[in-house]
Amino acid sequence: MRSNYCGVLNKSHLDKDVTLCGWVDRRRDHGGVIFIDLRDREGIVQVVFDPDTEEHFKRADRVRSEYVLQVTGRVRARTESTVNPDMATGEIEVLGKELTILNAAETPPFQLDEHTQVGEDVRLKYRYMDLRRPEMAEKLRLRSKITNIIRSFLDKNGFLDIETPILTRATPEGARDYLVPSRTHAGSFFALPQSPQLFKQLLMVSGLDRYYQIAKCFRDEDLRADRQPEFTQIDIEASFIDQEQIMAIAESMISQLFKEVLQVELPAFPHMPYAEAMAKYGSDKPDLRNPLELVDISDLMTDVDFKVFSGPAKDPKGRVAAIKVAGGNDKLTRKQIDDYTKYVSIYGAKGLAYIKVNNKDDVAEGLQSPIVKFLSEDIRAKLLERVAAETGDIIFFGADKTSIVNESLGALRVKLGEDLALLTSDWAPLWVVDFPMFEEASDGSLTSLHHPFTAPACSAEELVKSPDKALSIAYDMVLNGTELGGGSIRIHDQTMQKAVFKVLGISDDEAQEKFGFLLDALKYGCPPHGGLAFGLDRLVMLMSDAQSIRDVIAFPKTQSASCVMTDAPGLVDDKQLRELNIRVKLPAKEDS
Ligand code: ASP
Repeated sequence: MRSNYCGVLNKSHLDKDVTLCGWVDRRRDHGGVIFIDLRDREGIVQVVFDPDTEEHFKRADRVRSEYVLQVTGRVRARTESTVNPDMATGEIEVLGKELTILNAAETPPFQLDEHTQVGEDVRLKYRYMDLRRPEMAEKLRLRSKITNIIRSFLDKNGFLDIETPILTRATPEGARDYLVPSRTHAGSFFALPQSPQLFKQLLMVSGLDRYYQIAKCFRDEDLRADRQPEFTQIDIEASFIDQEQIMAIAESMISQLFKEVLQVELPAFPHMPYAEAMAKYGSDKPDLRNPLELVDISDLMTDVDFKVFSGPAKDPKGRVAAIKVAGGNDKLTRKQIDDYTKYVSIYGAKGLAYIKVNNKDDVAEGLQSPIVKFLSEDIRAKLLERVAAETGDIIFFGADKTSIVNESLGALRVKLGEDLALLTSDWAPLWVVDFPMFEEASDGSLTSLHHPFTAPACSAEELVKSPDKALSIAYDMVLNGTELGGGSIRIHDQTMQKAVFKVLGISDDEAQEKFGFLLDALKYGCPPHGGLAFGLDRLVMLMSDAQSIRDVIAFPKTQSASCVMTDAPGLVDDKQLRELNIRVKLPAKEDS
């Protein structure tokens, strides 16, 4: 039906007859000449109909926005004054000769070029219209290019693309499962995979050696701004490979991707231990473009006459830390500092102490802050030296439980970096390594920091003896403050797997019930293996500079985990429920 895409026409097509198919982006009547901007996947071209072509001109007069047309015409140069440098096809236009209306369209629910004025819910309800916008199509095209490059990289490196089940059993990744009732097994449920973790490990037991899958995963979490209940992972696993090797493969995959898609040469990825990341940046996914650092000053504050500092400084689970902002004295207004105080309170900080360094050489008079009086001149001098303060700087403090200090100062660091435009480069990748095996839940019990199949860096005896000290052979790839992916070397021996379950308080019976198949498989010759997974949606979002993860997914869910276009999740009829032996009991409505 078509000879060319609209958006690719240029001067090389001059005087050629072309047949185009597409949607009416705009139609304008300029005193007897009709201009139609015709749009397809590749872009927009201007088509002109003049009254000479009477029958077609009349039809052109009838068309409205979003009508679907087939147009035949000749490509001609625009006159100099009508060249549009903002349009890829702006040097040419098509003189229309024939026009067929392939389909009419009702008045669109929103004007595509005025999409920002309608709420996102309208864009999502008419997603098929929203995706006609060239920026949206461009993001999906970029996504396709990214998956293509990744597939070909992995294929070249010997990884086999293998599908794993969607109807399965729970795989613990730390979130709630989506459940699917079984009709044939009354009262039993499938879980949708939170990741293909166990299956990819079993494929290693099978000897398939190198696996990958661009896999849909499902996690029923209370959604934070940029999470989706179903999302896509680039899931990878390999046998007879150590941590350095699998990290090198993943790093070269991402580097090649950036080179091919964005023409960006990423630097070699530094490796940073988790403990260092938390100490310096208060985060296990630090944005290294931001030069600000948290500096530990607990040792200086143990004996000061200021309980807010000395308390946490003496508490083994507490921390006192500082962030110095060079030149911050002039750059930050009182109002901004008050706003930062409110901001850190979101993360549990009870306040935000600060010192303005008016003269670094005069510790008696040159420091301005209500807290200075609590610090001896000796401590003041040591503090300035520790943070390498200069005159004109401002120093912020956090003193509390370590986790609160890390979270609040970590968040403040990010905010200061944005507000003061401190970022030093475009891309700053790194690996975070040496994660703890476990973290303490609020009830004091231990949970896996990654998942319970992650290999520890110590023996099973050491693990059981001091689980809180154990590190894992896990690694996360971080880019500009976003976790792109992560994984680990896995446990391949049954004794070690049982030791981990024991520390996690999973009884033998429970382990057998939930993961018996894995424990069995470990008995029958499981090779050493490891892998990782990347979040595709987040990767595309970063690479396309999209504002929201929803913009890089064709049909995303809303923040309340629903689809406003299909109205999913929806009610089902009683017959279906009866077949599934399910009776719905809604929570009692609260009296308002
Ligand atoms: N299954 C892990 C996840 O989904 C990734 C991995 O360990 O390979 O985060």
